[in-house]
Amino acid sequence: MKTKALIARGDAKSYGVAFETIDTADWPEGDVTIRVSHSGVNYKDGLAMTGRAPIIRSFPIVLGIDLAGEVVEAAGRFKTGDKVIVNGWGLSETRWGAYSELVRMPASIVQPLPVGLTGEQAAQIGTAGYTAMLCVMALTGHGLQPGRDAVLVTGASGGVGSVAVSLLARAGFHVIALSGRAEQEGFLRDLGAAEVLGRDAISAGGRPMAKERWAGVVDVVGGQVLADAIAQCRYDGIIAACGMAGGGGLQSTVYPFILRGVTLRGVDSVNVPMARRETAWETLARDLDPALLAALSVTRSFGDLPQIGLDLLEGRLKGRVAVAL
Ligand code: NDP
Repeated sequence: MKTKALIARGDAKSYGVAFETIDTADWPEGDVTIRVSHSGVNYKDGLAMTGRAPIIRSFPIVLGIDLAGEVVEAAGRFKTGDKVIVNGWGLSETRWGAYSELVRMPASIVQPLPVGLTGEQAAQIGTAGYTAMLCVMALTGHGLQPGRDAVLVTGASGGVGSVAVSLLARAGFHVIALSGRAEQEGFLRDLGAAEVLGRDAISAGGRPMAKERWAGVVDVVGGQVLADAIAQCRYDGIIAACGMAGGGGLQSTVYPFILRGVTLRGVDSVNVPMARRETAWETLARDLDPALLAALSVTRSFGDLPQIGLDLLEGRLKGRVAVAL
């Protein structure tokens, strides 16, 4: 079957990205054929489409890490007509990905569309939103309590951050949103942030430990912001670190860990086992306010890729962007 797909051709040093018409028979692996209705655009998609970081490890490759769609050729636990999603699992890295009207995927990485969500909503949530959910699960699993605890969310107006703000605020946490874009304050307060701080407002002044300000952190930025977030984390608090939008480095000391018992918890979304994914997605379907999801999301057309990826990396977007195929 012929399909339009966004493909990267070349090698790790130099590659081009273009829409092509290909045949699903050329798909390297996969036993479930899915007609994709929607896909999402994530930070990693931006990096892959622009070549700004070495995301792609196998060429040629179909880009895109998230999809929602309908099964047209069944295998495994799926039957024709089932609504499904796929997120991560090496898509757009080592495995042909989501930016194609038709895709073929191994049944083992396909999961049912959670009850209560449309394909468009699932793509709007996407890897960014599902990663936000994994971070929130890390915080609540550590014992943080709504109504009592303050949580800092960095990179708050981006994809992961905006969903994290929405989920945490709706659960009843006191959400402190950190954003470099003062003009997004209204947006973040509408999502439920109790406080909105500029990036400079959490500087610990180079000290390894400073006054305790939050019990938990969802960090997408890394670098100095993560170091400052650790330095001001409360006794027995937890930092869920999932991103590097501000840099991959981390300069800290052992003191917050050995004197305050602070936990630094890494969060990955790509290789999470299926059972935990399904829990995360079921919780998103139940707890993410659909009105807030609509407020932080926009759906654009397939042809707008890869310009959307560039705009995302340049900080010209807020919240989540999905594309309809
Ligand atoms: P977005 O681009 O949507 O959001 C990132 C936000 O970070 C921006 O909106 C901005 O927020 C802030 N930011 C950007 N650049 C800087 C900077 N130089 N210094 C400080 N803050 C900055 O990306 P996503 O939300 O989709 O992804 C965020 C991060 O999480 C990325 O690094 C991504 O790779 C990672 N990620 C990791 C996953 C995992 O499995 N571990 C899964 C998904 C994402 P503001 O303007 O409000 O300050």
